Amino acid sequence: RLQQRIHGTTLEINLNALTHNFNFYKRLVKPETKMMVMVKAFAYGGGAVEIANHLQTMGADYLAVAFTDEGVALRKHGISLPIMVLNPLEESIDLCHEYALEPVVFSPEFFKKVNQYCEVNERSLSIHLDLDTGMHRLGFEEKHLEELKELISKSKHLTIASVYTHLVGADEELHRDFSLEQIHSFQRMKSELEQILPPNTLFHALNSAGIAAFPEYQFDMVRLGIGLYGVEVTGKYGNSLRSISTLKTTISQVKTLNPGETVGYSRKGALPQGGKIATLGIGYADGYDRRFSNGKGYVLIQGKKAPVVGNVCMDMCMVDVSDLDVKPGDEAIIYGEQISLKELASQIGTIPYELLTNISTRVKRVYY
Ligand code: PLP
Repeated sequence: RLQQRIHGTTLEINLNALTHNFNFYKRLVKPETKMMVMVKAFAYGGGAVEIANHLQTMGADYLAVAFTDEGVALRKHGISLPIMVLNPLEESIDLCHEYALEPVVFSPEFFKKVNQYCEVNERSLSIHLDLDTGMHRLGFEEKHLEELKELISKSKHLTIASVYTHLVGADEELHRDFSLEQIHSFQRMKSELEQILPPNTLFHALNSAGIAAFPEYQFDMVRLGIGLYGVEVTGKYGNSLRSISTLKTTISQVKTLNPGETVGYSRKGALPQGGKIATLGIGYADGYDRRFSNGKGYVLIQGKKAPVVGNVCMDMCMVDVSDLDVKPGDEAIIYGEQISLKELASQIGTIPYELLTNISTRVKRVYY
């Protein structure tokens, strides 16, 4: 049963849908391909601890977070799966050791520092290597390869758990050739590194879109993110994925609007013919983007579209309910199964990832 609502806005997370999506990808990849799941950024807004817990029971092989403190929080809540940290600060390496987190190392300088930390403290650490094949964000480049091989060979304290690269546009046909170039560059670096790494080192390159676009390049593991959370970025699987979350709020007040009257800050909203507006208890501080103002966004009330009228406020927004019979306390769906996140995101020139990860922490997460 869902917990009683105190704050009008809740993000309901359907763990059965999460299971469904996980199993969908599990069936899609080869039986021996390991599954790393991205639970960074609060598990794409869904709640890292609860989702990591669920993934642990479902048999995920690895988790990944962006920063060390995200990993520490998971460990403090009893998550025992291996956790890769994508962008650890040098100063957080001791925390990685203390909490058995596995930092990504992405440059010769960083490798030396981590190695030195381990030597001085007589500690060993599992690390991952990020190879930059075209993203130009983090990572060793092909020109670093000889130095990297030497560093690995000399290090007595570091175990290379995995080596990976990240594709810049696996979800875009336009960038298919570039993705293939990236994969080939990864393969070249992989065969060099394999000469000195133990055979159980994992290699991986594919995110959700990559799994769909390049099934032949799963290597040893895939890194599942947005697809698990129910957003189909490639359009390849039809309706096979289930939406895992529904962002809901309630109507606080219903008002009648006369022609010529305006709604909200800066008098941006109006109903030229007059009508009814409902005030909802969600605003940009909850993650309801202000760019949804003035008809760019809509919510669903009684299954019907109610467009945003005027500017989205910090904690509230107003929607047109002229054709609906509604009252305070009625429910409005902001995102969910019936509303395509892709479509909504494109309305305001962004991507579903941003909508999901912007849902603020004051929005109560409810799991069922
Ligand atoms: N791998 C890396 C290195 C990432 O940064 C991300 C997400 O940004 C992913 C995998 C997962 O990507 P997606 O959510 O598109 O599946």
